[in-house]
Amino acid sequence: MITLVWLRRDLRLADHAALRAAAEGGVVVPVFVWSPEEDAEWPPGAASRWWLHHSLAALDAQLRTRGSRLILRRGASAAQLLATARECGATQVVWQRRYEPASIARDSAVKSTLRAAGLAAESFAGALLLEPWQVENQSGKPFQVFTPFWRRCLTQIQEPEPLAEPARLDAPQHWPASDSLDSLALMPTIRWDAGLAAEWQPGTAGATARLEQFLESALADYSTARDQPARAGTSRLSPHLHFGEITPRQIWRAVRAHFEHRSQVKAEWRASKYLTEIGWREFAHHLLYHFPHTPLAPLRAEFATFPWAADCAAFGAWQRGRTGVPLVDAGMRELWTTGYMHNRVRMVVASFLVKNLRLPWQDGARWFWDTLVDADLANNTQGWQWTAGCGADAAPYFRIFNPVSQGQRFDASGEYIRRWVPELRGLPGEAIHAPWDAAPKALAAAGVTLGENYPRPIVDLKASRETALAAYQDMRRG
Ligand code: FAD
Repeated sequence: MITLVWLRRDLRLADHAALRAAAEGGVVVPVFVWSPEEDAEWPPGAASRWWLHHSLAALDAQLRTRGSRLILRRGASAAQLLATARECGATQVVWQRRYEPASIARDSAVKSTLRAAGLAAESFAGALLLEPWQVENQSGKPFQVFTPFWRRCLTQIQEPEPLAEPARLDAPQHWPASDSLDSLALMPTIRWDAGLAAEWQPGTAGATARLEQFLESALADYSTARDQPARAGTSRLSPHLHFGEITPRQIWRAVRAHFEHRSQVKAEWRASKYLTEIGWREFAHHLLYHFPHTPLAPLRAEFATFPWAADCAAFGAWQRGRTGVPLVDAGMRELWTTGYMHNRVRMVVASFLVKNLRLPWQDGARWFWDTLVDADLANNTQGWQWTAGCGADAAPYFRIFNPVSQGQRFDASGEYIRRWVPELRGLPGEAIHAPWDAAPKALAAAGVTLGENYPRPIVDLKASRETALAAYQDMRRG
C-alpha cells in the first residue's frame, strides 16, 4: 500500500503516529501543502513563515538521509492531496490533528473529499498530551480554570512513551511532482531576518539541542530563573513545539529520565514546575477547541463593550519599542530582532498596551502573530486574554503590571534593558528602570537626553492606570 503522510505542524519523524502507521503499511510519501488561505484570518505571519521555510528544508534533508524526501505542493489541500495521490498511486492519506477552528473545518472537509474519491483517510493525535475532548469537569463541561484542569489531566495522562521513528521509510517507484521550497516564497523579500538566523535553528536537530541544553543547565533552577529575562532560564522550545519538531510527550519523557538518572531529591516538584508550563499549553488548546471564537472576541462577554482607546501613534511607538518605558521597549525590540520575547516581558508589554494605553488586546495579538517565531493561535489568544482580564482564569483587570517595579524585581541589575536599549546603557543601577526620575547629572553622564536620544514616556504610568481602572468600573456598571 502507498500512503501519503500529509505533514502540517508535525515536522518531525519520531513520535509521529501517522508516519508510523504509514510506514508499517508499506510505501510512504511525505507531503506538505502550502495553503495559507485555509487558515482563514490567521495565515502564518512573517516570522512563522521564516521558521517554516527552514523547518521544511531541515525535514527534507533528514528524509533524504533515509532514502525518502518531502513533496511540496501549493493550492487547496484537498485538490493537491488528490492529485499527489493519483500521481504516485497512493490509496490512503494520514495526518496529525490540529485544533484551530479553521483547521478543524478544513480537515473534516478534506476527509470527506478524499473518502468520496475512494481514498482511505485517517487523522491521529500527537500534538498534545490529551485530546481537548478527553478532559472535562464533573458536570461534563470544559474547564475554564487552570489548576483543576491540570489536576484532572495529571490523573488521566498515562506515563507517556513517545513512539520511535519508523525503522525504514520505503520510497515509491515514482515520486510525484514537487514544487521547490523557494517557489513557496516563505522567506522575506526585504531581509530583516539576520537576528532570527543568529538565534534559532529550526528543525528537529535544533529542538533536540535546545532540550538537552535546557536539561543540563537550566531545569534545576527553572522555578526561579524562569522569571528573569536576562538569564537563559527557560527552554525556548516554544517555536519547536508549535511546528511539531518536538512533542510534549518527548519533553515529558526527557524531563523524567533526567531526574531519574540523577536521582535528585525534590525532583518531583522541580520537574513539575516546568511540566506545569507544558500544562498551560494544553489548557490553551483545550480553550481554543471549546471556545473557537476567542481569537477575535473576549471569552468573558461583558468585555465586548470595554471602551478601548484608538491611538495609532501610541500603537506605533509600542510596536517599535519607542514608548520611553525601558522594560517595554526592551521587550518589543527583543521581539523584533529575534522573533521571541521572554514570558515575563510578554506579560508586561501586553499589560502596558491594554491597560496603560487602553488599546485593544486584539491589536497586540495581531502584532505578536506577525513577529513571533512561536506565534500560536491557542497560546497567543490565551496570553492576551489572560493579560487583558477577559479570558479564562485571567488576571483580574485591576491587576496592572507596573513596568518599573517589574523591571526592578526581575531585571534588578538592568542587564536585560541594557542589552536591548543601548541608548540607556550608561545609566547607573536603579535609574535605568525609570530614566524620567533620574537626576539630571546621571542622565548627562550617561549621554541620555530625554525627548532626543530616548523618548519621554508616551503615557504617565500612574494617571493611565487610574483611567484604566475607571473605564473598567464603568464597563461593570454597564
Ligand atoms: P518555557 O518556560 O521553557 O515553557 C515550556 C513550554 O511551555 C513553552 O515552550 C510553551 O509551549 C509552554 N508554555 C509556557 N508558558 C506558557 C503559557 N503561559 N501559555 C501557554 N503555553 C506556555 N506562547 C507561544 O508558544 N506562542 C504564542 O504565540 C504566545 N503568545 C503569548 C502572548 C502573551 C501576551 C503572553 C503573556 C504569553 C504568550 N505565550 C505564547 C506564552 C509564553 O510566553 C511562551 O510560551 C514562552 O515564553 C515560550 O518560551 P519558552 O519555550 O522558553 O518557555
